[in-house]
Amino acid sequence: MKITAVDPFIMHLPLTASSIADSTHSITHWGVVGTRIRTEDGLEGWGFTGTHAHLASDRLITACIRDCYAPLLLGEDARDHRRLWKKLARNPATQWVGRAGITHLAVAAVDIALWDLAAKRADLPLWRHLGGATREHLDAYNTDIGWLSFGDDLLVDLCRKAVEEEGFRRIKVKVGHDNPMRDVRRLEAVRRAIGPDVTMAIDGNGKWDLPTALRFARAAEPLDILWFEEPLWYDDVASHAALARSSRIPVALGEQLYTLDAFRSFLDAGAVHFVQPDVTRLGGITEYIEVADLALAHRLPVAPHAGEMSQVHVHLSFWHPASSILEYIPWIKDHFAEPIRVVDGRYVRPEQPGAGTTPLAASLETHGKSLG
Ligand SMILES: [Mg+2]
Repeated sequence: MKITAVDPFIMHLPLTASSIADSTHSITHWGVVGTRIRTEDGLEGWGFTGTHAHLASDRLITACIRDCYAPLLLGEDARDHRRLWKKLARNPATQWVGRAGITHLAVAAVDIALWDLAAKRADLPLWRHLGGATREHLDAYNTDIGWLSFGDDLLVDLCRKAVEEEGFRRIKVKVGHDNPMRDVRRLEAVRRAIGPDVTMAIDGNGKWDLPTALRFARAAEPLDILWFEEPLWYDDVASHAALARSSRIPVALGEQLYTLDAFRSFLDAGAVHFVQPDVTRLGGITEYIEVADLALAHRLPVAPHAGEMSQVHVHLSFWHPASSILEYIPWIKDHFAEPIRVVDGRYVRPEQPGAGTTPLAASLETHGKSLG
């Protein structure tokens, strides 16, 4: 099953709103940046990472795939994808210039494409190829109703609609104003609108410092918050550990962590309660599994971050026993052969062979960008 072609691609897909912002980021499109990998038997796998649709940096990722990794992959047996992960992620020259960042996002895209190929070769959806589902139901939580850029009335209205009209029982709301008490007031209004039985998580996207997060958390504790996501700077293990010890709101993080070792540092320090790996930031599905296993060994729940808008994580969440709930952001789903689907607040299990990463030809045509 020799690899015969590695063809990178870039798509910039519009969001459901014209633009959104959290405390740190502001975007109008989601970047789907990755590669198709073909084998001599005519099969093809697709994998991608997620970006802010900034073409110049997206081209760094596709250049890394085309110029650095394709020569290491061509002629290799695609079935040996765990060995190929090591060949790429531990390639001395590229590791020298990045054990994280561009080179690792490129590894993610390649690794996902190789798993997609493996599941397609087995003619099974990825979750079944990995060993089958460990759960009957997978609850979705809606993030797309809670952006920081939404005015207070719109935020409350969208949260209520998600619950009352779309059947979500779990939502997430962004926080991170300069005055954290403004966020407390917004969350109080949301809680009043959705009632006591709907689960509410919150996400600070790493903006605040420890004193601000502590002050906020004390005021927000009565609101029954499932988790406080990225309360502090992404790499600051000690401050997250201090917050986790001091607050009754559980800490969630992981979407900015590139490696198994980074996750281990947070877990060893007791600095995280909900573990949030992402196949598009870690080195793909291979490293995600290692992180999910690590969480399982600590008896901590996994709640993936949706850098691929849950096209892949829905498979991994039905399969891995540490999985808890899964993020829902419907930005890119309709550009894929098998879109993610949520009914009455629960994910529908995918049934098509592969990892859910095959884009529609029409979407590639319409939203594809030149690799430069
Ligand atoms: Mg987040």
